[in-house]
Amino acid sequence: MSGSPVTEMIGVLGLARSGMAASRLALSRGASVYASDVSSAPAAVEAAAKLRELGVEVDVGGHDVAKLARCSRIVLSPGIPPGAPILQVPELAEIPIVPELEYAYEALTGPVVAVTGTNGKTTVTALITHVLRVAGRRAESGGNIGTALSELALRDSQPEVSVVEASSFQLGRTRDFAPSIGVLTNLAPDHLDWYATVAEYYADKAKLFQNSTEESRWVLNGEDEESYRLAEEAKGTRYCFRAESHPAQGELGGYLSEDGWLTLRLEAGEDRIVAASALQILGAHNIANSLAAAIVARLLGSAIEGIAAGLTSFQPMKHRVEPVGEHGGVLWVNDSKATNIASTRVGIRSLDRPTILLLGGRHKGEAYAELIPDLKGRVRQVIAFGEAALQIEEALGGAVPVERIDGDFATVLRRASHLARPGDAVLLSPACSSYDMFRDYEDRGQQFRRIVTEELG
Ligand code: ADP
Repeated sequence: MSGSPVTEMIGVLGLARSGMAASRLALSRGASVYASDVSSAPAAVEAAAKLRELGVEVDVGGHDVAKLARCSRIVLSPGIPPGAPILQVPELAEIPIVPELEYAYEALTGPVVAVTGTNGKTTVTALITHVLRVAGRRAESGGNIGTALSELALRDSQPEVSVVEASSFQLGRTRDFAPSIGVLTNLAPDHLDWYATVAEYYADKAKLFQNSTEESRWVLNGEDEESYRLAEEAKGTRYCFRAESHPAQGELGGYLSEDGWLTLRLEAGEDRIVAASALQILGAHNIANSLAAAIVARLLGSAIEGIAAGLTSFQPMKHRVEPVGEHGGVLWVNDSKATNIASTRVGIRSLDRPTILLLGGRHKGEAYAELIPDLKGRVRQVIAFGEAALQIEEALGGAVPVERIDGDFATVLRRASHLARPGDAVLLSPACSSYDMFRDYEDRGQQFRRIVTEELG
């Protein structure tokens, strides 16, 4: 058949930042766009008005299935939960649903580095971007980390390198996504409130490798068998990072030398990058994160000096083992982003002081008893708070001292302040989500900081 080219009709689900950017990107690619959101909150109404001005057809307060059914593809915002009813309607079963991540990826011109894993995604994404920039590259991060990937794709001057934080929910729906370099930080059970099984969750992460070629490069955690195994079938070259062990003979990657230097071995010979003691971020997990970033930067051609300068100037990120103050010899540490057992474990291990640990919030499905080996000898007292307090007390009570507090957050922190002795740390690393008492993990971390500095300081 011949004739004038037919304008592609793109649907966009979700009108928050990513949906807005994806709609604009679709317009810029010559498509006509229908965007919708179940919310009719002021932010959605405002977004709708802006998009209508650009010529987008928009509905708020619900999706029009008939309009979506006329689209050739539907772009899915990262904020739409996997269980959303619109994703189950039979009328849309035949229409490809493309995660915003993949839709934007199609439009990016430079190399894409994708970072996924259970914990450390944001840290590693930010580290890679920072190191590349300090080493002189025009790198930008996007995806889950704040800037929608579509926004990067829309820029007049696109980034030289795009560093993408990819959640399992977005990755799970990709089909053609093929990053130049993929980083898998680690795997541990999480999101059991969303996934029926751990296997399903890991299967979404495995999508990172689905379009591998001989040119692909994979940066993997050599100390996490499960995540290494996930890449087993992938084509391309593997690089391992190890914070607490030495590489096997012939293994490429990065490790910590006997004398405490981050060291790379990417081809013949070794490059010593920087002493771990010069990093500003705490804990063995952050040595692993730094090594992963150093490998990526080196694979993209950055000089050793630039990588070293980038790693040593990287500051602790908010809500991730972030020291917020020291009062009367007690160090207060905000690790509010630790919302699963594995991240709380590394939080505890990052500190070299006797610790009062604040655990609690909304239960997500994991067994707190798995923390017991890490608590012993490190944690003087657990304070259990929030909805999960009783479960935590029951799981840990026989092994370490646990006190359950039913009051508000300020009461929890006052009790911690009372129990702490000079030389101790009080660590908020709750292993739970925040939605029982707070808007989100950031709100929880900000309240922690405010109470510590204004009421206890
Ligand atoms: P994500 O984006 O994957 O949630 P973040 O960088 O935001 O990861 O960190 C989330 C939590 O995990 C924080 O408590 C942080 O201290 C912890 N964390 C960071 N890096 C790692 C790692 N490599 N392994 C385990 N936990 C980590």
